[in-house]
Order: sequence, then structure tokens, then C-alpha cells
Amino acid sequence: MDIFKGRNLLEFAERFKTDEDCKEYLAGLKKNEAYRCLKCGHAKFQERKDFSRVCNICVHIESATANTLFHKVKFGIRKAFFICFEMATSTKSLSASYMGVRYGVTEKTARLFMLKVREAMSPIGNSPMDGTVHVDEFVLGVREQGKVGRSYDSKKKKAVTAVQLTDDGKARRMYVMCIKDFSARSLQYIFVNNISREARVVTDKWKGYRPIAKAYNIQQIDSDKGMNFKALHTMIHQIKSWIRTTYPWVSDFNIDRYFNEFCFRINRSQNKATIFNNLITEMISAEKIYQTELIGN
Ligand SMILES: [Zn+2]
Repeated sequence: MDIFKGRNLLEFAERFKTDEDCKEYLAGLKKNEAYRCLKCGHAKFQERKDFSRVCNICVHIESATANTLFHKVKFGIRKAFFICFEMATSTKSLSASYMGVRYGVTEKTARLFMLKVREAMSPIGNSPMDGTVHVDEFVLGVREQGKVGRSYDSKKKKAVTAVQLTDDGKARRMYVMCIKDFSARSLQYIFVNNISREARVVTDKWKGYRPIAKAYNIQQIDSDKGMNFKALHTMIHQIKSWIRTTYPWVSDFNIDRYFNEFCFRINRSQNKATIFNNLITEMISAEKIYQTELIGN
């Protein structure tokens, strides 16, 4: 199968003209994974014209979208592909309301689907950052749903970010996560999830990093008003302004998903040509997500 490469919208529209084109693409990618019938566990199937699969033993039918995050997408898989393309290839992505206008779906529908896409963008955790990694914590003032005016800043979210640097000090990869407070207990998660024990970590002099330095190679230096953490602070500035300008409100429950979307584009910026295919591959391997899980309580 020819994977789709590039970020050209016209070429994309030409390749994916119908829902069938999209299903064929999914079926092509699914062939990279071992098949197991969901009902009986048998490993052989026949592919039908609509790219669904029929188990050779129990004749259970699995649609092309089954077991992917495209499962039961009500507005059609072609629109879903376009939304994925926008989210993967545009530098800043779009708000749910704007995406809704562009693809003729309601804002709520667009938001729910975009949350699924962000789920696919979440870090896999099997490639921890090594080399030089700068870590810092920051606060994010975002509007909560249903509040207006001054409450914009009333409840700041706290987050920690880790940026792996290139040899010339630019951001190569990054991860961001929301944390409850700036204690060592909360800060440690980004280390455990995303940073190799071999990495040379640099932080400012905040005492919360001291206990973590028992397990990680951490050097604490003076921040010099951010001058010693230039790439890191540029990224923090970008993620803050992206969230503030693109999303009218962000819930505590979903904030990590927005961070993941931002990092997904940064971390794959060296593979821009294949970023759409990477995302669709993740959409296929991610577990099915139900709307209740996405919305929270
Ligand atoms: Zn079967």
C-alpha cells in the first residue's frame, strides 16, 4: 500500500474522494497487524468489497473501522480523515467550532471526535527522552466552561514540561503534563513517563526537584530569568498562547489531551511528510474510546 505523504490539501482531497477510499486505507494499514477474530480468536479472514473482514471459521464480520478510533463516527469517515489531516498537518490546529463550520458538523460532534484524535496523539511511553533535557513547571490561566470575565484567571492550571534539546540548543522533542502542585511527588511523573535515567537533566533551583535527583541525573542551575532555558521557555510560551487563542475553554479533565496534541506535532516535525499516516496508524492501534470516558464526570 502507498502511504499518504505530504501536507498538500489538494493532493489529500484527490487521494480520499470517498468513504470507500478511506476504508481501503484503513484496511491497508490493518494488514500490518496480526488479525484475530474478536469472537473466536481465529487468525484467518477474507476481505470483502467494503474492506470489512469475515472470519473464516465463525463468519463474524469486522468493519474497516472496527477496533479503531473511527468506530461509529456518525458523520462519515471521509470527514473524519479530513479532520485528522488538519490536526496533524496544520501548525496550530483549529478550534472545534471552526472545524464544525468547515466540515458541516455540530461543534459538539467536532469536539468529541477531536478528543479521540488527541487520544491517538498521546505519547506511547516507549521512547523516553535522552541526551540533554530541560525541565520546568508553569501555570496556565484558562477559562472554565460557563464562567466569564475575571474568573479567566481565577483557577490556574499547573503543568510541568520536559524538552529534549538538539546539539545547538533547539527543542527536539517535548512532553507536557498537568499536575496537581509543584511538589516532588507530582513532578516525578514526567520523569518516570518520559525521561530516560541516562538523560542529562537540567532544572532551575526549585527544591521540588531535589528528591527526584536521587534517581535521575539532575543539574540545578540558576534560571537567570529564563535565559538559561531559552528553548524551553519558548515552547512554554507557544503552548500557552496556542491554548489561549484557539480554545475558548479547556476542562481540567481534558487539558492533557491538548498538551498531547501540541507535543505530537512538535515531536513529529522532523517527519512532516508522514505525519498523517503516523496519526492514522495510532488511530487504528488505540483502544476504542467511549464518549463517557472522553467527557469525564
Ligand atoms: Zn471467528
